[in-house]
Amino acid sequence: MQRTSDLKLDGNAIGGLLGEIFSLEMTAAESTCGGCGAINAIGRVDVYTNAPGVVMRCPSCTHVLMRIVRGKGRYWIDLSGIRTLELKAGP
Ligand SMILES: [Zn+2]
Repeated sequence: MQRTSDLKLDGNAIGGLLGEIFSLEMTAAESTCGGCGAINAIGRVDVYTNAPGVVMRCPSCTHVLMRIVRGKGRYWIDLSGIRTLELKAGP
């Protein structure tokens, strides 16, 4: 992929997808990268939607944080790249 940077979005671009899955506001959630330990709001991480499914990468070290694949009637979510996810509780 030579033009990957052209296709790079941020986490806000998939706010709708995340809203389908998680009931809490995910774009404001703070993720800790499992690769370098950087803490970034999900809304600010790098997002690639041209991969099979959606791939979120750490903006500091490009480590894969999360992958989401939506298939027929279900989602597959790989969270193995996130060390911790801190979410603000709802009202
Ligand atoms: Zn990182």
